[in-house]
Amino acid sequence: MQADLVVIGAGLAGSCLAAAVAQRGWRVVLLERQRGPRHKVCGEFLSPEAQASLHALDLHATVAALAPAEIYRAAIISRQGQRLDMALPGVAWGVSRFRLDAALAQAAAEAGATVREGIAGMALTPCEGGYEVEMRDGAAERTSISTRTVVVACGRHAVPGLRPPQTATASRQMYVGVKCHYAGLQLPPEVRLYLFEGGYVGLSPIEDGQANLCLLASEEAFARVGRRVPAMLDAVAHAIPALARDLAGGQRLDESMVAVGAVDTTRPTVLWDQCARIGDAATMIPPLSGDGQAMAIHAAEICAPLIDDVLAGRRSLATWQTIYAAAWHAAYDQPLRTARWLQALLGQPQISAGLIGLGTLLPNLAQRLVLATRGPQRIMGSMHTQLSTEQPS
Ligand SMILES: Cc1cc2nc3c(=O)[nH]c(=O)nc-3n(C[C@H](O)[C@H](O)[C@H](O)COP(=O)(O)OP(=O)(O)OC[C@H]3O[C@@H](n4cnc5c(N)ncnc54)[C@H](O)[C@@H]3O)c2cc1C
Repeated sequence: MQADLVVIGAGLAGSCLAAAVAQRGWRVVLLERQRGPRHKVCGEFLSPEAQASLHALDLHATVAALAPAEIYRAAIISRQGQRLDMALPGVAWGVSRFRLDAALAQAAAEAGATVREGIAGMALTPCEGGYEVEMRDGAAERTSISTRTVVVACGRHAVPGLRPPQTATASRQMYVGVKCHYAGLQLPPEVRLYLFEGGYVGLSPIEDGQANLCLLASEEAFARVGRRVPAMLDAVAHAIPALARDLAGGQRLDESMVAVGAVDTTRPTVLWDQCARIGDAATMIPPLSGDGQAMAIHAAEICAPLIDDVLAGRRSLATWQTIYAAAWHAAYDQPLRTARWLQALLGQPQISAGLIGLGTLLPNLAQRLVLATRGPQRIMGSMHTQLSTEQPS
């Protein structure tokens, strides 16, 4: 065997897992089909819960060294300007995926993992004592590696040769995600979520005094602006007066602009298919929960000691699968259901206005609902809810 563990995909989930298993002295190979740091579509809001997992994986200092912006509050803002303000249960971080993913892949390399960029993981073939993993480089050359264990951490992408993680059906609502950084905005330390028909926009501070705008729009809303990313950014600013005010005077950093299509926030969870799947490769929680990165890192935290046990002969693959599934379902079944339900309701203007109004009357209910979209609360402190009405312009 050339490796003890092959991880397919060097996003958050894959790099955290590779670092944690390599730290335990195993031979880890981390495959990433792309090369070099790059911008990814993400709200870049790293929740307090994610930081608990980073601590557990000994990666907290790595991310703290990127000097993330600190975020203490969240606000949900309707198109009419009504807003629901909440204190977060701990300090969240705003940090670009450009820096975060590169730092975590580097941490994996420093822990002893072999990081192979520009190499796509492909089909897996079970063989005696493990798997044969087919790989393809940029020149379409194919090679293979034998390994004792494999984890798929390929995000929302399909791994060629493996069953796709999602089967899109005509009835499912598909979304488009768009992300862009801004300079020169004076934002308070809060994440703002602006609702519009068929989607929402998140705006929050990140490192270096910049801000990240990230939106999720229905495919229909994206089609209405000719499927052009700058036109989509203009359209949401035009449709949401509070957002237009918050962006006034800022400079859009076009080199950071990225978009992704066919985002399916309701696809079924698949935690194991020949091998473990972690992060978005397992499933996707609606981004409004701000919990996707935490889920990805937490899955690495759950799996790392189990893989250590399997490699050391203390546990079988079957018990790894059983314990991982039990821990994951206990943590995320309920948040997934609530976040999907909330996303469907908030996408409809009248209902979202009604919900924010209801939150005004019943702040404790609003607080419980928001907490119910999130995984394990491993942060001390309480979540306070306060409501105010912003003057519509
Ligand atoms: C619009 C939007 C906004 C979001 N906002 C937030 C937010 O504010 N906070 C939050 O916590 N979460 C947010 N999320 C969710 C978050 O981005 C994801 O949950 C997170 O990126 C999952 O990490 P991952 O490592 O599983 O996947 P990814 O980050 O997608 O990484 C997967 C990696 O695998 C690589 N790869 C794919 N296929 C192969 C292959 N065959 N071989 C080798 N490499 C491969 C890819 O190139 C990629 O680098 C948002 C998502 C969207 C769509």
